[in-house]
Amino acid sequence: MLVIALDALGAAQQQEAAGRLLAAGPQVRAYTPRLFSSSGDRATVLAALGDLADAVRLTDIPAAYPRAARFAGQATTQVRLGADTTVGGAGFTVIAGPCSVEDREQMLQAATAVREAGAHALRGGAYKPRTNPYSFQGLGPAGLELLAEAREATGLPVVSEIVDVRDVERMAAHVDVLQVGARNMQNYPLLRELGRTRLPVLLKRGLAATLDEMLTAAEYLLDGGNEQVVLCERGIRTFESSYRFTLDLAAVTVLRERTHLPVIVDPSHAAGLTDRVIPLALAAAAAGADGIIVESHPDPSRALCDAAQALPTSRLGELMARLEFAVAAAGRVLADAPGRPARDGLVLAGDAVR
Ligand code: PEP
Ligand code: MN
Repeated sequence: MLVIALDALGAAQQQEAAGRLLAAGPQVRAYTPRLFSSSGDRATVLAALGDLADAVRLTDIPAAYPRAARFAGQATTQVRLGADTTVGGAGFTVIAGPCSVEDREQMLQAATAVREAGAHALRGGAYKPRTNPYSFQGLGPAGLELLAEAREATGLPVVSEIVDVRDVERMAAHVDVLQVGARNMQNYPLLRELGRTRLPVLLKRGLAATLDEMLTAAEYLLDGGNEQVVLCERGIRTFESSYRFTLDLAAVTVLRERTHLPVIVDPSHAAGLTDRVIPLALAAAAAGADGIIVESHPDPSRALCDAAQALPTSRLGELMARLEFAVAAAGRVLADAPGRPARDGLVLAGDAVR
């Protein structure tokens, strides 16, 4: 599919180019007055545009996601995490916290540790999509209250999973980013509804979804006008059963080519066991991810969900210290964070990689 953007043209030329494209044949489709696609070949499209061809941006993509597609030279979109942090800029972003919100003490302890370690945002599920209906399903609205309290106490933005389209308003009042979990990546009514909001969305890759399926899922969000979308590689099902999921880090490099949306990695759900989490997080950073989302619990032995893969909050400092090196390997730095101790003045953020 060829995607055609007219945004470098003036208004009159845009209209002219749009007219020429649409006259070129039924395989041309308009998404906005400035964004078109064609299943025809490049030469036909260029011929239809005539003398306007030079001022038009074209990109070839394998499937139908014109709004998510990256044009040559296009910068990665920056997505807000609360008021002060973004994902997709020069800095690498770390989101950490428990799999699920369990009680006030657990959540506040986790939040304080995440801030003190210098991470950028807090995670915690109030609604848990569990495989087994008898497993802990999350605290629901009470969990959202605790997340809001943790946000208030630390100033950290909060990421939490939405599982039901009816919860959008309530969640929007309590958290900063809505996570769409792997099991809901293809829940199109939910994606449509979130596309109508302007709330940042963290879209996780489905357990057996191809990258193009993930990008077309993101397109549902973008098509509603919501451009605040972060993609998350969290491991996929393969024949290998030695760990929970196969972390597909090649996906980071492919998504980087195909889309302008920022890409983060969840090492925890792929790892399945605590001691594998930091190595996978470092690999994700070195592979060029824009950030990570890591499960971390003050006392993993008491965690009600995903206990085996929880990184004790006491190890978050080690994670952050080692990430400094891994992000430098990818030519990046850790993003500034409210809780990060000031550097000693010799090495400033950015200098490490220049
Ligand atoms: C989670 O983040 O706790 C979670 C359920 O993740 P996923 O949707 O990737 O399984
Ligand atoms: Mn989990």
